[in-house]
Amino acid sequence: MRGRSLRFRMMLLFCMVVGGLLFSTYAIIYSIFARELRAQLDRELSEAAMPMVADLAANAPEEDVFQLDLPDQYLELLDSSGQPLNMSRNWREHPIDVGSLSFSGNEPLFRTVKGDRGPLRMELIPFQLVKRPVVLAIAGPTRDIDIVLQHFRQVLMILLPVSLVLTGAISTWYVGRSLSPIAELTEHAARLTRAIAEPGQIDMKTPRLVSNSPDELGGLAATFNELFARVIAVFQQLRQFVSNASHELRTPLAVLQGETELLLSERRAPEEYEKTLEVIHGELRHLSRIVEGLFTLSMADAGQLRVANDDLYVNEVLEEACEIAVPLARSKGISIEQNLQSEIPSKGDESFLRDLFLVFLENAVKYSPPNTRIKVNLSRVNGSARVQFQDQGIGISPEHVPHIFERFYRATGSDSVEARGGGLGLAIAQAIANAHGGRIECDTLPGRGSIFTVILPLTGAPTAFHA
Ligand code: ADP
Repeated sequence: MRGRSLRFRMMLLFCMVVGGLLFSTYAIIYSIFARELRAQLDRELSEAAMPMVADLAANAPEEDVFQLDLPDQYLELLDSSGQPLNMSRNWREHPIDVGSLSFSGNEPLFRTVKGDRGPLRMELIPFQLVKRPVVLAIAGPTRDIDIVLQHFRQVLMILLPVSLVLTGAISTWYVGRSLSPIAELTEHAARLTRAIAEPGQIDMKTPRLVSNSPDELGGLAATFNELFARVIAVFQQLRQFVSNASHELRTPLAVLQGETELLLSERRAPEEYEKTLEVIHGELRHLSRIVEGLFTLSMADAGQLRVANDDLYVNEVLEEACEIAVPLARSKGISIEQNLQSEIPSKGDESFLRDLFLVFLENAVKYSPPNTRIKVNLSRVNGSARVQFQDQGIGISPEHVPHIFERFYRATGSDSVEARGGGLGLAIAQAIANAHGGRIECDTLPGRGSIFTVILPLTGAPTAFHA
């Protein structure tokens, strides 16, 4: 509605400006044309009068001149006070008022006067007749000019509204075309709002705005496309996160509920209580790990988690992480082969870095079959510490790789694995790596194994902890 009124206002303004311009142009053309026609008539009067003035001045008999009875040509000879001396017959039949006579020098006077048969154009020429100042008045009707001008006016009266209508049509089309991306934008924004308000009802895949023009509107459309894409992506991620989180929490809660209900249903032997409590303890650990992970990530999102900037040796932190992981690996018959080069001093948060390395070690154990080998490599490359975790596990299909760092995302293949983690390991690992100015790379082949590489710059001090 608002778009329509803007369109109407723009169109009205456009029509008014163009209409005003057209009107002034036509008015100027008309006045130039009318002036030109009158000048032409004046020239014709002068051309007709000149030989008569010459004849009279050369003492030609006045009668010869005034007996000339030319149609539409009126002649009169006046003395300097304006008294008529002689006149053509048609002047006598249709008297014409000459008006006042006031010449500047010998310059002739032109004026338009009213005759019995309509308006006349008159030229008054002062000259000497036998040393006596006289005036020759010659007049002709302006009828022809008036007819031509009247026709011209009629044409303009038709042309003006026609051009206004055409201008209106063109401006409606042009303004509508120019504003269509804005209307489209409004429609997109409304659709997105509806999609967010009623997620189940409307498809979140809003089509892209179409404006390929390289102008400001094209730029606006491109910016909004990006904005819409981001809003939709964030919204979908949020939705996915909520669904995944509730799913993750529901499973251990269901186990807890089932176990406790079973335990309370009747009296049990002490060993049974002990066994069930162990299960409950395990599930509670799992739950608290998820909740802790979520808390860490939410603090990171809010920029409220800070990492220490202590002096440390990357090789030592990595060695400690391996030591922690060894019992877990051994329980599956997996060996951890460490190839840690010389000492690599750096700055960072020892505790966070240990957690970071443990994520990869635990994943490598979780997603590898028993009796395989995990290789841990540490090297210094271009001022960075490069830590590589290579396993002989199940690997990850290429379509899942871009998502494994998302919260609670699971590659389908890993569903079959019994020992599943909280689903936040890699998300937390990435947050820790980012906070240390580093990054993580993943190279994997389904069925063959994975290599996760953590690259940590050795010079950079840790920044605010961001997920
Ligand atoms: P989880 O707790 O499920 O392990 P993570 O964030 O640590 O959550 O990992 C996300 C997903 O990435 C895992 O569910 C698994 O599908 C995949 N993944 C991670 N590490 C490996 C690995 N070494 N081998 C195979 N798949 C892995």
